[in-house]
Amino acid sequence: MNKVVFGFGLLLSCVASAHAGTGPAVISEKAKAIQAKAINLDTHLDTPALFGRPGWKITDRHTYSGDGSQIDYPRMVEGGLDGGFWVVFTGQEGRDAAGNLKARDAGLKRLSEIREMVAANGDKFELATTADDAARIKAAGKRIVYISMENAYPVEQDPSLLSFYYKQGLRMISLAHTSHNDFADSAGMGVAPKGEHGGLSEKGKALIAEANKLGIIIDQSHSSNEVFDQMLELSTAPIILSHSGAYDVFAHSRNIDDKRIRALAKKGGVIQVNSLGGYLIDTGATPEYRAEQRKIYEAFGGRRGMSEADRKQAMEQIAALDKKYNIKKADFDDYMRHLLHIIKVAGWEHVGLGADWDGGGGVQGYEDIAALPKVVQALLDAGYDEKQIDGILGGNTVRLIREVQAKADPAAVKAALE
Ligand SMILES: [Zn+2]
Repeated sequence: MNKVVFGFGLLLSCVASAHAGTGPAVISEKAKAIQAKAINLDTHLDTPALFGRPGWKITDRHTYSGDGSQIDYPRMVEGGLDGGFWVVFTGQEGRDAAGNLKARDAGLKRLSEIREMVAANGDKFELATTADDAARIKAAGKRIVYISMENAYPVEQDPSLLSFYYKQGLRMISLAHTSHNDFADSAGMGVAPKGEHGGLSEKGKALIAEANKLGIIIDQSHSSNEVFDQMLELSTAPIILSHSGAYDVFAHSRNIDDKRIRALAKKGGVIQVNSLGGYLIDTGATPEYRAEQRKIYEAFGGRRGMSEADRKQAMEQIAALDKKYNIKKADFDDYMRHLLHIIKVAGWEHVGLGADWDGGGGVQGYEDIAALPKVVQALLDAGYDEKQIDGILGGNTVRLIREVQAKADPAAVKAALE
């Protein structure tokens, strides 16, 4: 666009944006009204990883610049997030018996931490297990806690543990994380690695059949394209991509191509758009950069669980490293580019939000959940109407939960709940 000819437009955009790329600065009354009515769900909240951090409380207001966290109760209220899927995440390690047992324990511990958070804050949070629970819990003035699992590693030793998880509230499961496991091939971290199973293993196929029977949503995020194709073929219910981006916008193996997005929508599935900067744009991060970054985190005992003082130091060192390697940072506009592209390709009925908060998500201008209203405003600005935005904010996810549960086997559900 020519800046001289379109001077008026430029002036308007200056009023609307605080900084280039960081999104709308003013939220309209219309956007606020739409959001207040909608059920705002994010399908990938990694915040449970913070529940074990000494002194960290979900009821305190934190800042992203202060402790790096992106979700807590005060900021959920501020940003209008009603809830979402709170993740039992386990990083993939050894695939021998010792590794599997360690993962089993880690999964059960994280599951307990989520349930304990809800039990300790019963006036603010409530466990949700059905589609109807979302509206009911919102109407009661509380935040919605569905439980999901990222990486099925905790049930590798004993897949029948899935029915125990179901009884405890699990309603969504992904198979692999950033490396292959016994269930499925991973999409890797940029360039797709050579597959091990050619998609799903027999064990992975059996897990999908079991999840279908129980009405647990199958999540493809982090798995390979072959896994996507096979999941779509095998699953008797529509599937989800709980936190993914568009490969046709940025060619990264964690993103999904337009052809597959269309196939997903055709089968009634939904794709929830991720805000992890390195998946949105080419940041210029090289393997050397990543190795140096890893060293910094390791020097402070790992990315999670750092004290505030250590975190500050680590962040200063990473900022210097970013400068040395000339690392580009993704911003709000980059996020919207993926979101708007995916809406165009899938149709608005098949899209939602899964920003990967507290799991690596967030970009400049969209750093924590308090900024969620910007997305609503940006969708309005892009021409979407109330019904469409309502679906994207959470209506489509609720529809998916309902459909997947309607396709469950009542006898299997009954047996799991006994
Ligand atoms: Zn993830």
